[in-house]
Amino acid sequence: MNCLFCAIVTGDIPASKVKENANVLAFNDINPQAPTHILIIPKAHYENAAELAAADHKVLGELFAMAREIADEKSLNGYRTVFNTGEDGGQTVFHAHLHLLGGRSLQWPPG
Ligand code: AMP
Ligand code: ZN
Repeated sequence: MNCLFCAIVTGDIPASKVKENANVLAFNDINPQAPTHILIIPKAHYENAAELAAADHKVLGELFAMAREIADEKSLNGYRTVFNTGEDGGQTVFHAHLHLLGGRSLQWPPG
């Protein structure tokens, strides 16, 4: 399987790592949309958040727990967590990833 984020997990493709544990890895988004824009991913491959949710509640929860830890460490004044799912959802990389965005006032609704 040819998956960019699996290659980041194995170290075959470099990334700016922020935090990790046995199941989860966080790294800076290469094209940040906010002063803090971090991707938090399961180390195991799931195509999207729906597949992860169906397969592993524990790791799904760990993604949000790590988002909270990073937000606390960075003293973010609020933040947004987003899963884009499927083509109309704006997903471009098909390995589940939670976006953590913060460091500025974010607009709502998103485009
Ligand atoms: P999505 O559109 O929700 O699938 O998000 C994919 C995200 O991955 C985008 O925000 C990209 O900027 C980001 N991205 C793509 N390639 C890399 C990479 N090599 N390292 C870090 N982030 C990446
Ligand atoms: Zn993958």
